[in-house]
Amino acid sequence: MSKRDYYEVLAVPRDANDQQIKSAYRKQALKFHPDRNPGSAEAEERFKEAAEAYAVLCDPQKRAAYDRYGHAGVSGVGAGGFDPNAFAGFEDIFGSLGDLFGFGDMFGGRRRRGGPQRGSDLRYDLEISFEESYTGTETAIQIPREETCETCSGSGAAAGSSPEVCPQCKGTGQLRFQQGFLTVARPCSTCRGSGRVVSRPCQACRGAGRVGRERKINAKIPAGIATGQRLRLYGEGEHGSAGGPPGDLYVVVHVQEHAFFHREGDDLYCELPVTFPLLALGGDARVPLVDGEDQIKIPAGTQPGARFKLRDKGMPNVSGRGHGDLYVIARAAVPKKLTKDQRRLLEELAKTMPQEAVEAGSGDGAEKPFFEKVKDIFG
Ligand SMILES: [Zn+2]
Ligand SMILES: [Zn+2]
Repeated sequence: MSKRDYYEVLAVPRDANDQQIKSAYRKQALKFHPDRNPGSAEAEERFKEAAEAYAVLCDPQKRAAYDRYGHAGVSGVGAGGFDPNAFAGFEDIFGSLGDLFGFGDMFGGRRRRGGPQRGSDLRYDLEISFEESYTGTETAIQIPREETCETCSGSGAAAGSSPEVCPQCKGTGQLRFQQGFLTVARPCSTCRGSGRVVSRPCQACRGAGRVGRERKINAKIPAGIATGQRLRLYGEGEHGSAGGPPGDLYVVVHVQEHAFFHREGDDLYCELPVTFPLLALGGDARVPLVDGEDQIKIPAGTQPGARFKLRDKGMPNVSGRGHGDLYVIARAAVPKKLTKDQRRLLEELAKTMPQEAVEAGSGDGAEKPFFEKVKDIFG
């Protein structure tokens, strides 16, 4: 398959300015982002294709070379396939939208040899109760993470010494091998790709420049948070190396199910058992709320399955936009056991309400007789 023209990939004219290219790329990347197209190989290809096109067109030098010589002019970017460094500058384009779609996760592991490296992102799964998701909560979480060694400030070298340029790779962190027609770069094994070697290692970190620590972090969980939503705690991931910024910590929230309430969006649903006399005669019924209780009026003649709406008694909206509603669904509570008196009274009542009357319709003439309805269904 031949490579598509970069302007065509981003759907911009050849004289598009930087702003147009930027926003065209943003649109493409959001559309084909793997998180939004799980399992789609085509979307992944389009995503990478857009990234590659953007990497060239956003760089004036590369763009000029591409304009003159086409793909051959920028083969350093395209020839080896997908270049992850194309994503330098990705975060400042996407800003907070990046948070939403998890770009931080995807590219957090990116490494540039030798130079400052951003620390890895971490994920922490937090389980909270339904009530905690209703009120919001603050919780201390403990995470193991790699931090910069304080003794050597991350250099890995003992006091009084400093790391030296790796003699094997001359500080590049890579060794090149000839393989047939191809030159292949591999991380240098002497310095493990860092480009530096330590002759007298720091005692505290054994030369790694980093130490494993348990860190306690207070996470504020906003009211209304739902299962699967996550918080991004900036800079609370692993420390970067060689002065690179730390990664971020993602707290993924799991809310326990509630025995009585069921959540849909910001609305809550519950089923309330109501006795037959109360359904028939009407009256007040107590309704539990997540944080207390309320009362509803049951009108006389209420049918099982009837729905009552309690405005603003649902979950708080996680973005602070008020509350959802609570829907209470009336269920007929049928006692499993009866006292002698209850049985006698019910039998009295039953005599006044023969089943045949129900089967023949409610008596108002609106309903078809029972056997005719059966015929409608099976006939
Ligand atoms: Zn150290
Ligand atoms: Zn080396």
